[in-house]
Order: sequence, then structure tokens, then C-alpha cells
Amino acid sequence: MGKLTLHKVSRSENGREIHYSYEVSKDIEKYFRLDNPYYIKYDRNISTAPLGLQVIPFLSNVMPMSWFVGFDVYMDECDETFFESLQILKKQFHEFFPNNVKKSELHVKSLIRNEIKGTNTSLLFSGGLDSYDSLIRNIDKNPYLISVHGADVEIADTDRWNKFVQFNSEERIIDHGRLFYVESNLREFYTYRVDLLTDLGWWGGIQHGMALLGVLAPLSYTFGITDIRIAASATYEVSYSWGSSPKIDENMRWANTKVTHDGYDQRRTDKVDNVVAFVDQNKENIKLRVCFAEERSGHNCNHCHKCQRTILSLILSNANPADYGFVVPDNLYEMLFSNFNENAVMTVGIKYQWTCLQDKAREGGAFFVLDDYDREKEYLERFAHLDLDSIVNKNEQQVKQRKRTRLILREKLPFIYKIYQKLRA
Ligand SMILES: [Zn+2]
Repeated sequence: MGKLTLHKVSRSENGREIHYSYEVSKDIEKYFRLDNPYYIKYDRNISTAPLGLQVIPFLSNVMPMSWFVGFDVYMDECDETFFESLQILKKQFHEFFPNNVKKSELHVKSLIRNEIKGTNTSLLFSGGLDSYDSLIRNIDKNPYLISVHGADVEIADTDRWNKFVQFNSEERIIDHGRLFYVESNLREFYTYRVDLLTDLGWWGGIQHGMALLGVLAPLSYTFGITDIRIAASATYEVSYSWGSSPKIDENMRWANTKVTHDGYDQRRTDKVDNVVAFVDQNKENIKLRVCFAEERSGHNCNHCHKCQRTILSLILSNANPADYGFVVPDNLYEMLFSNFNENAVMTVGIKYQWTCLQDKAREGGAFFVLDDYDREKEYLERFAHLDLDSIVNKNEQQVKQRKRTRLILREKLPFIYKIYQKLRA
């Protein structure tokens, strides 16, 4: 049976960094990048947080691995509430993935009850539509906003991260004294073998809800935060086993905190309506950042399917996408229709997002005209009546298999992968 032992938790840089020294048994070494052990850096001193809370960022990332790989974890001290929460989370994942979750145990020498004094609110903040919608709906709580470098932006990509920080600094709606930055190699301390543990990808399918929330534990103690929110990306209308969902996120708890998977009742089209209404009423200015595509130069890449959907949603809310951080491509509508060709394959979630836009288009309200009212109205009507069920996912199995082959090739045989890419091009 594999075994991970957490030996020591140490702080440095005036109590702003936490380093974890751990060792793993030979049989599970292949899952860990031991040359890049898990760490976390805050821009505030969090050293007053008790040890039982300082281990939470680490455990939130490692425990799902222990469940899916099947190894035991040994350590000295943990917050009692969090320990209990882990048992529930494991059950939850077992329900989602009955064939993937294995036998494993967490051994802790002492469980300690901790109490956080305060009722402050925090919100994980990525600058995207979900984040802004949550911020607006909770604005009277003046939430602390926490952005994590290492989640959407790789640690080494400092250019993109600096841009992100700069864009934040330009937003008037943000209370800049309450915006915290965290850096963690939470996507880099494990190997690609972890990505192969399920079909869904590790970060999106399993890791990200627990990982991002876990980051907050030490901060929550220092800043009296007990009302913790993470913006939902999906809604109750669509169910797919995602790493962030009410059943995962809201079962994350430590000390006396409560986590809310925020905005689960809001479709993305509702969120756009909400942001547009807020901007109109308050004479505010918000630049959404929905996309982290490589090709992005300004706030968004404007071309990926997520950018396309957000642009379309703004148009359907009768707002000018240019006011919200987008440069509308000249051939927007042609681009939209190219998503629905013969080989269109998309996840349940993405297909659902398109369906929401179709519903919104069918409502037939006022829309933002880019150039030619009649032509665009015709496009919107055509879009509204596309039969997605007959178009999407005809070749789903082959595409999934191709994706898995690509991942294995890329990691194991990078040279052959390059040839493969050339052949396909
Ligand atoms: Zn994009």
C-alpha cells in the first residue's frame, strides 16, 4: 500500500510562505514531481493561523490523489472539522466515480477544534464572468477577493500574470485593499499520470474546487473570514461530475467556516444580464476576462468558443461587447456557425451553454447591432433554431480516445508527438 508522510510544515518570508516537506513510498513516486514539492505563497502574513489550518492547502490537493490512486497519508495535526469534511468529500467522489475511488486512509495524530473570530466574506476571483457576477451580488458584504497564480495561469508565465494583476488594478469596482494574491504550484507538483486517473482531466474534473478553496484556510483565520464563496460555472440544470460543484465545494469546511457555491441558480446568460444591469445602473465599467487562451493579447482572445459565447451573450443582452473587454471579430456570426459542423464534439456542459444562448436568442428581445440589423437578426434566428441534438457529439468516443493518446504521446514520447502533430496538420 502506498504511503505519503507529511514530516514538517514550515513558514518563511515573514510568515507569508508555507512549505511542506513530505516523502512518498517508491510505488507512488511516479505520481509526484518530487523536484517541485507543493508550496503556497501569500502576499500577507498568515503565520498566526494554527498548524491544523496551515495543512489544509496541502491536504486539499493531496487527498483527492490519495483517494484516486489509493495510498495512505500520515501526519501530525489537522483541524477536526476539516478531517470530518474529508470523509464526506471522499464519499461524494466515490458517488461520482464508483470505479475510480480506491481504499485509502488519512492518519492524523491529533485533531484540534479551531475557531475563527469574524464574519467576513471572501470570494475567489479570476476576473471572469462568474467572478464579477458573484462580486456584484455580494457587493454589500465587501468581500475579500482572492486570486490564485498557478490556477488559470502557469507559475512561469509571469507576463500573463502581471497583465492579470494590471487589469485588476484598473477596475474601479474592486476594493483594492481587500484583493489578495496567492501563488501555489497546485497544478505542477504532480505528474501527467494523475491526469490519466479519470477521463475528465485532473484539474477540471477533480481537483480545482477543493484546491482553490483549501488555499483560503490560513487566510480565513488571519482575516476573520467565515463566509467563503466560490462562483459557480454550472447550474442545477445540468449535472456532470465536475471538480467544482455544490456537492464538493459546500462540503469543504474547516473551523467554523461555511462555503457557498455561489450563483448556482444563474445561467451564464443571466449573469451577463446581471453585469450589464449593474454597469448601466451604477455607471460602472467592467472588463470581463473570460479567456486564458495563448493568443490573448488584450483582455480576451475574442476567438475561442468561450469568448464567442460571451460576446454573443452580451449582444443578446443588448450591450456592446467592446465596452466589456472584447474586440468583436468581423466574421463573428460565421465563426459561431463553424462550431456546429459535422465533427462537432463538446462536453455536456458546453453544449448546455450553447443551449442557454439559444433560449435567450429565442426570447427575441432587443439585441446589440454590430453592423446590419436585418442580417444579424436573421443570423440570430438561424442560431436559435439549430438542432444541437442532431449535430453535436456524433463521434464522441473516437475523439476521447484520440485525446488520451495525444496526452500519453506528448508526455512519454515528445519527439514522436511532434511528428504526430505534423502528420495531422
Ligand atoms: Zn478566448
